[in-house]
Amino acid sequence: MQVWLFTKLGKLMPQQFFSNYNIFIKDNDDYILFNTLTGYALRLSGYEKSMIENGDIPGGLEDLFNEGFITSDINIIFDNLTLKKNVFEPTLLLTYNCNFDCSYCFQKDYRNRSYVNNDVIDGFVNYINKNNNGRKTRVTFFGGEPLLNIRAIKEVSERLKNINYEFSIVTNGSLLTENIANDLYSYGLRYVQITLDGPEDVHNKRRYFENGRGSFNIIMKNLKYAQNIFNVVLRVNIDYSNENEIDKLLEDLKLNGIENVRIDPHIVHENLFRNEAWDENIPRKNEHMEIKNI
Ligand code: SF4
Repeated sequence: MQVWLFTKLGKLMPQQFFSNYNIFIKDNDDYILFNTLTGYALRLSGYEKSMIENGDIPGGLEDLFNEGFITSDINIIFDNLTLKKNVFEPTLLLTYNCNFDCSYCFQKDYRNRSYVNNDVIDGFVNYINKNNNGRKTRVTFFGGEPLLNIRAIKEVSERLKNINYEFSIVTNGSLLTENIANDLYSYGLRYVQITLDGPEDVHNKRRYFENGRGSFNIIMKNLKYAQNIFNVVLRVNIDYSNENEIDKLLEDLKLNGIENVRIDPHIVHENLFRNEAWDENIPRKNEHMEIKNI
């Protein structure tokens, strides 16, 4: 395993290591640097990749590399972090496809690239059976939009029904109708994360269907039911364009009877995928000031 150590000037340091969990994935002319432990990903050009392989961090990426691509403990291992926790929490990405076309989506380039196949499902189930060691297993299904692949959710859940199993989904919320919610509850769905980026007009400018229609109302409708049977987390991505709208969102939730959810505000920093659509992110140095204002 190659070990790289950096200072801000690109010099080697004795206390920092390139994470053992970094992998490069070729994507046309570019590469995705993906950390399999943290889930962080970063798009790089071929030139930037070769710089990294020579032990240098490309200009401007020093802070991003601190998001988990570099570790101060080379002994940090997957077993210690994951395999020994009380709850075993593996994640499965079911598809990059989505029925939304959010302004800031970094996955659009991967659309139409199929759904998870049976070999992956077999491998995932076998991995869980081998490593759960009798612990509760909480799978997270992720996308794209994971509810576009309910077949795979049911297949995995059916095959794990004899262990202590439940699952969560990270969904845009549009397909979680009462019928689907009840159906998936019977398969073990207990936790749901949905994103709402502000009151209706603000949210709809950022998170809309592929035909451009806003998604706020359908999400509110589905939330009314979902909040009563699942643990629901509402993620709110906050940048300079919506930081003054959060109070209004909270009012709207109350007016719609959405009170049994947990709000998870998320300050948007420099985007790891360098998504140009997300140009109003909040620099880390301003983060504390912004949190005080929200
Ligand atoms: S919901 Fe939006 S951000 Fe999430 S995958 Fe779909 S288009 Fe992208």
